[in-house]
Amino acid sequence: MSPKLASVKTVLIDFHTHTDASDGELSPAALLKRARVAGVTLLAFTDHDTVAGYRAALADDNVAVGLISGVEFSCCWSGTTIHIVGLGMDCDHHAMRDGLETLAQARQARGEKISQRLAGRGFHGALDGALLKAGASQLGRPHFAAWLTDCGYVADETEAFKRYLGQGKTGDVKAFWPTLAQVVNWITAAGGVAVIAHPMKYRFTRMKLRRLVVDFMAAGGEGIELLSGRQSADQTTTVLQLARAFSLEVSLGSDFHRDTAYGAPVGVELPDIRGLRGVWERWHTPSVRQEVVTT
Ligand code: MN
Ligand code: MN
Ligand code: MN
Repeated sequence: MSPKLASVKTVLIDFHTHTDASDGELSPAALLKRARVAGVTLLAFTDHDTVAGYRAALADDNVAVGLISGVEFSCCWSGTTIHIVGLGMDCDHHAMRDGLETLAQARQARGEKISQRLAGRGFHGALDGALLKAGASQLGRPHFAAWLTDCGYVADETEAFKRYLGQGKTGDVKAFWPTLAQVVNWITAAGGVAVIAHPMKYRFTRMKLRRLVVDFMAAGGEGIELLSGRQSADQTTTVLQLARAFSLEVSLGSDFHRDTAYGAPVGVELPDIRGLRGVWERWHTPSVRQEVVTT
């Protein structure tokens, strides 16, 4: 018989998830349940430019234990759209309220522009169609993709992005986003920590990534996502080096939207981050500290 050994209990957290308040599939209650079942002890909903999912979960009942407030803001930096995650903010702070309102207006204006551009390609009524698809959630390109698909203009949403909505295509409208400094300021003024979301997704050179970090930190940003969804070991090493060079706090997230073959499930295992600080240490609970259990 094998001897009983001390084993490391798997600690899971997830500071980047989406509910159906933005472009995720699960309701806030369903996502919370999913996370609990997976064994996630600390969780944040980071819906695009809205905290409606977080508010709904809080209003629900006591299920919100271990839930940190979160948001994923879009902003413009050096001509590119960058995503900044905010964690642990007071969502009722006027800076956050102003920020969310600014983004809601930006999304509306952007939706109108996308609609005009699609009309220029012969697709009329896109805004109304996309708004219907969006329902109570934040208007975004996925809703335009769903509308184009429904109308039969494309075979599916992947084709909609490939031909009309993806990077560099007619519906890729960036001009309305706030600046990097603005979104970082909203988060930090409201007592939260700002985190660069999925840094390897922008396909920047290391030099450009460093420039982003410098500008982000000058604005008051403190964190970066060390792990985001499924990423390669090389990518993790690049972010780790960046975090070390700039003494950034690290965050972890699945960027879960729905169950897919290529996406990551809810819950990220705490990695070894020797010498670095995890953003979760700001809120860690006894269950996160208690890492070693004896079987
Ligand atoms: Mn999304
Ligand atoms: Mn993102
Ligand atoms: Mn996301």
